[in-house]
Amino acid sequence: MSVSVAPRLPSIDSLLRHPACRPLSERFGREALLACLRQLLDELRPEALSGQVAAIEIGPEALAGRAAERLAAQRRSHVRRVFNLTGTVLHTNLGRALLPEEAIEAVQVAARYPLNLEFDLASGKRGDRDDLIEGLIRELTGAEAVTVVNNNAAAVLLTLNSLGARKEGIISRGELIEIGGAFRIPDIMARAGVRLHEVGTTNRTHARDYEAALGPRSGLIMRVHASNYSIEGFTARVPTAELAELAHRHGLPLLEDLGSGSLLDLTRWGLPAEPTVRQALLDGADIVTFSGDKLLGGPQAGLIVGRKELIAKIKKNPLKRALRVDKLTLAALEAVLGLYRDPDRLAERLPSLRLLTRPQADILAQAERLQPALAQALGPAWQVSAEPALGMIGSGSQPVARLPSAALCARPQVSKRLRGRCLLNLEAALRRLPVPVLGRLDDDALWLDLRQLDDEPAWLAQLGHLQVPE
Ligand SMILES: *Cc1c(COP(=O)(O)O)cnc(C)c1O
Repeated sequence: MSVSVAPRLPSIDSLLRHPACRPLSERFGREALLACLRQLLDELRPEALSGQVAAIEIGPEALAGRAAERLAAQRRSHVRRVFNLTGTVLHTNLGRALLPEEAIEAVQVAARYPLNLEFDLASGKRGDRDDLIEGLIRELTGAEAVTVVNNNAAAVLLTLNSLGARKEGIISRGELIEIGGAFRIPDIMARAGVRLHEVGTTNRTHARDYEAALGPRSGLIMRVHASNYSIEGFTARVPTAELAELAHRHGLPLLEDLGSGSLLDLTRWGLPAEPTVRQALLDGADIVTFSGDKLLGGPQAGLIVGRKELIAKIKKNPLKRALRVDKLTLAALEAVLGLYRDPDRLAERLPSLRLLTRPQADILAQAERLQPALAQALGPAWQVSAEPALGMIGSGSQPVARLPSAALCARPQVSKRLRGRCLLNLEAALRRLPVPVLGRLDDDALWLDLRQLDDEPAWLAQLGHLQVPE
């Protein structure tokens, strides 16, 4: 009978002095290296004691190699670029709108240098950060006044709380929506301190329903653009102009949460009609709220526009300070809004609009061009084809509208029973690429919608790394 001797782990000191470890100390810092080596030794100790590892696996070179991998992984950014080939352009989970170069440059300047964030250069006195973009937003929407907060959810919360706290907010049952991520109109109203007074029914609400609800406790009437669902068939809603007239007759403000809120009529680019902020104000809405990073195509922000005295009240609310935007957002927003002054060139310069308006024929030609490369990377176990596909705007804009697009479609050539697992394996392998590729599973196939594939060389270059398990 032979007795095996358990190999001994090297000491921390000897490891730190070892030539294999010294460069790591320089690259990652001594503290980080020390912590990593300690952790590795702790993990290996039980196996080393029971003699289950070979001496070579716990030698200084091997340990240095493992430490290097771990430290590099720890240093890698958690915020990572991905390829959004899901077919949904303004994808909330993937960061929504992409900023134009003008905005990226403005963000760099704001990040790198001091700036007049709350300082009026003309008078030398303290300024207000909203003033930096107020002129542009007024010009583009026709609003009297403006304030900007962190996102549209914050805009709705702040507006409700400023104008309706301890009073009743009247809203149609068809507009009590949930927007995902736990943003539900009734909950936001409750948090804003506004008592919900719902009127009408899910599919039909009439002027007389609002009228019957009006009374001494009423504080405001609210209208919410049902962004992420649509009611069709036997429906009725009171036009904004009529609702505004009713609200004003009773001395109440009308709030309109537009959600996406487009600044321009999108049908000019062949996109589905979306209510514009200017039209909502013309129709008589006293305050309109909308997002900066949906159809507007800018940074995450919530814009509150409308009547001067109401905006003044909103700006005085202490919550405004808690919800305000930072300098990087303001810099990006100003640059994006600036592009709207030249609508003729907007679709070239604003990435979200450029992507939304890419013609299907272009995308299909691209899919045909890339088909052989993907077919080769996947091998004979997959059938890869270029096919027409239907995408979406996303972010709750136009939930039923589909964007005619094109995709690379990969179908596993295996029995039906095994197909699901194959597809999940491929999906996971695409996510493991250096720049993860995100597609969508549908109809026993993996679809890569190419509407948003701008950087073809980078996408092609990494196909060689693709490893799909059997
Ligand atoms: C998207 C949306 C919101 C929330 O906007 P965020 O910018 O995501 O906070 C609120 N209301 C409506 C109608 C929306 O569509």
